[in-house]
Amino acid sequence: MKRILLVEPEYRNKYPPLGLMKISAYHKLRGDHVEFVKGCCRSHREYTWDRIYVASLFTFYWNVTIRTIVYYRQAVRAPQDVWVGGVLATLLGSDVAAETGVTVVRGLLDKPRMLDPTSPQVVDYLIPDYSILDEIEYRYPAENAYIGYATRGCPNRCPFCAVPTLEPTFCHYTPLARQVQGIEQLYGPKKDLLLLDNNVLASRDFRRIMHDILDLGFERGAKFNNQLRAVDFNQGLDARKVDRSKMKLLARTAIRPLRFALDTAGMLKTYVNAVKLACDCGVPEIGTYVLFNYRDTPKSFYDRLRASVDLNQRLGAKITSFPMRYVPLDEKHRTYVGPRWNRRLLRGIQCILLSTHGMVSPNKTFFEAAFGRDHDEFIQIASMPEHYIIHRRRHENNGASDWEKLYRRLTPGQRESLYGILTEGKVKKRAIAKVPGQRLRDLLAHYVGEAEKVREKKEAKR
Ligand code: SF4
Repeated sequence: MKRILLVEPEYRNKYPPLGLMKISAYHKLRGDHVEFVKGCCRSHREYTWDRIYVASLFTFYWNVTIRTIVYYRQAVRAPQDVWVGGVLATLLGSDVAAETGVTVVRGLLDKPRMLDPTSPQVVDYLIPDYSILDEIEYRYPAENAYIGYATRGCPNRCPFCAVPTLEPTFCHYTPLARQVQGIEQLYGPKKDLLLLDNNVLASRDFRRIMHDILDLGFERGAKFNNQLRAVDFNQGLDARKVDRSKMKLLARTAIRPLRFALDTAGMLKTYVNAVKLACDCGVPEIGTYVLFNYRDTPKSFYDRLRASVDLNQRLGAKITSFPMRYVPLDEKHRTYVGPRWNRRLLRGIQCILLSTHGMVSPNKTFFEAAFGRDHDEFIQIASMPEHYIIHRRRHENNGASDWEKLYRRLTPGQRESLYGILTEGKVKKRAIAKVPGQRLRDLLAHYVGEAEKVREKKEAKR
């Protein structure tokens, strides 16, 4: 019997580590002892394990992932006994190997003998071991769901997306019933169905998949312990591939929310048509991913958010938008600034989203309060000192309104100077004295120590 440790680095994530759950099932079938830990845990490091698996997620979690690998490297006999897989490991595998000397597994575990030359089992086909989730204190919001796939990969090759590298082959159908019934038999029934498909609408077996979902008890209005069930294709549906008959089928299921992506301004017309279809067919809730910081402009970003708010008003839809900041696929940090963006605006959006919990309300009043009534007001809000953006209500009569009065009185030239100064980084007292124009100097004084003020407020809250 081998001793196996499964590790997920200490980032905050919503979805349980499906890869580790399947690796756990694989080793338990072989009679091995398996433990799961989140983050760096001294008592787990003090032991010598036969193998340690470390999961990885986005490439911008580079630091925490490498720190975790290095932390556990001394708890195995040789560095190669630490195996790292997942998104970051697939996209930056050579860098991980060079930095740590561990074994890197790229892509899916979808062939036999990938973890052991003698084992015929395909790890990806196994029923994930939900029991490991009880071994840690961290709670994943999506734990009470059957998690699975009805397809794998995506036939498209969008340049900003990692899927073509992570899952290069499009598989049109994987039997859902086997996954759901397997989880139910081993770990009991679950309320929701979480499907990690990248592009289910591209499948030639789409109808069969929808019927599978209905047969499994996830029809619209279905309840579990008196609560409405939900089907969630959490990676989104391709609005270009939807038609009325497909939408009718989707609407028969308990899909909630139905997710689309509005990645570029060029997709707007297709997106609007898809939303109209969804509303016609009675889909109750829509969630829309909105990419920004790619080749778009701040104006295009605002317009795409605004489009969903307008659709809510016009069609009675209930669309919540989820802004997604683009980070290149090989970036190890989150500092990338798109060619038409600047650091200050990106930070401003981050501050707005901090106060809206990362989402954009379907309600017009809330949307306009958070993002402004038009593009100019959006730029104004995103350019405010950070502590004013995050705690806008609290500062309304205490600084923010003075800032706003000064801002409104700036000439267009002074505004350009202000944006120029703000994009350079932190505003320092000494630098302000050199800026021409009292009004601009008064305005800039509001930015001195803004990051510290945000930190102080956070600490005071704890
Ligand atoms: S359609 Fe979606 S999943 Fe497919 S490549 Fe484009 S962004 Fe990625």
